[in-house]
Amino acid sequence: MTKHETFNEAETFALGETLGQVAVPGKVYCLNGDLGTGKTVISKGFAKGLGITSHVTSPTFTIVNVYEEGRMPFYHFDVYRIVDPYELEEIGYEEYFYGNGITMVEWSTLVEELIPEDAIEILVEKDINKGLDYRSITIEGE
Ligand code: ADP
Ligand code: MG
Repeated sequence: MTKHETFNEAETFALGETLGQVAVPGKVYCLNGDLGTGKTVISKGFAKGLGITSHVTSPTFTIVNVYEEGRMPFYHFDVYRIVDPYELEEIGYEEYFYGNGITMVEWSTLVEELIPEDAIEILVEKDINKGLDYRSITIEGE
């Protein structure tokens, strides 16, 4: 378990980028934390670390965005709007979760039963006492 602290968006992006640079194929990363904590900022940094140059946007409405131009495929999920895990089955999530790319799942706790045991868990938290832009980022299972 590693704990990181960031004090602005750029630092969180840089942490994501470092994770992306060392990522190996076939892993699922779970990203949890309240709305607006920085899950998508981490995902964007991660994509850059994988060598993805196209603009990464939040997949809130599409559920998954696929990027093929990096070191390995990048499957960026946001399951915030999912009401039943069955919706992920319809999308064919297994092709992504158990494929040869990297899967990142924002709000993964909403589909906990579908997340592989060996997923890497990232939790982003605020602490208002330390300032509006402070984030504590805990990573488990690396
Ligand atoms: P989420 O995906 O968790 O809902 P986003 O990544 O879309 O959140 O947005 C995070 C917001 O918080 C951005 O507006 C960003 O500028 C702001 N922010 C402020 N401080 C930080 C920080 N230390 N790390 C990440 N984002 C931060
Ligand atoms: Mg997001």
